[in-house]
Amino acid sequence: MHFTRLRLSGFKSFVDPTELLIEPGLTGVVGPNGCGKSNLLEAIRWVMGENSAKSMRGSGMDDVIFAGTSNRAARNLAEVTLHIDNSTREAPAAFNDEIFLEVTRRIERESGSAYRINGRDSRARDVQLLFADMSTGAHSPALVSQNRIGALISAKPKDRRALLEDAAGISGLHSRRDEAERR
Ligand code: ATP
Ligand code: MG
Repeated sequence: MHFTRLRLSGFKSFVDPTELLIEPGLTGVVGPNGCGKSNLLEAIRWVMGENSAKSMRGSGMDDVIFAGTSNRAARNLAEVTLHIDNSTREAPAAFNDEIFLEVTRRIERESGSAYRINGRDSRARDVQLLFADMSTGAHSPALVSQNRIGALISAKPKDRRALLEDAAGISGLHSRRDEAERR
């Protein structure tokens, strides 16, 4: 499984539709301070179902929508789409017929988020489980934000175990079990 393309529109500083091809192997994003490098990482996390505004460096989820500048009006809508190559069939069995997956999250000011998987309306939970089953997700240890290394070093053993479970692809099972126990 690998991410092949990221499309953003109205998301943080990426006000105009922007498309990035992600080639296999290592990708580097370089640019001056404030040009939007971290915003790209946050877009990937957001489309995978991140629900904490704080970890998106905002105070509410609407803060991911382009807020305007001195010469451009604010937007009311943000959308991010992540394209995934599923030719190795690492996505859950329900997606076995799909060689390509396209996951979209869209937010409108004051009306929350909507998700689509290959064009079909989906729940946040469907998207979160899809990525958890592929050993990734908004909290994947593969996404390292600027203060994360220090946080990991001082983490409690229980929190470190969560990291290993994410890496092993079993965190989706735990969250299904917790949901079943609550019923
Ligand atoms: P550094 O090298 O310092 O880490 P960076 O390339 O990671 O910088 P980001 O933090 O991704 O930069 O981008 C910050 C920029 O994004 C700031 O200019 C900020 O104003 C802009 N930005 C963030 N949220 C929004 C928003 N909702 N609307 C418009 N601009 C935004
Ligand atoms: Mg940064």
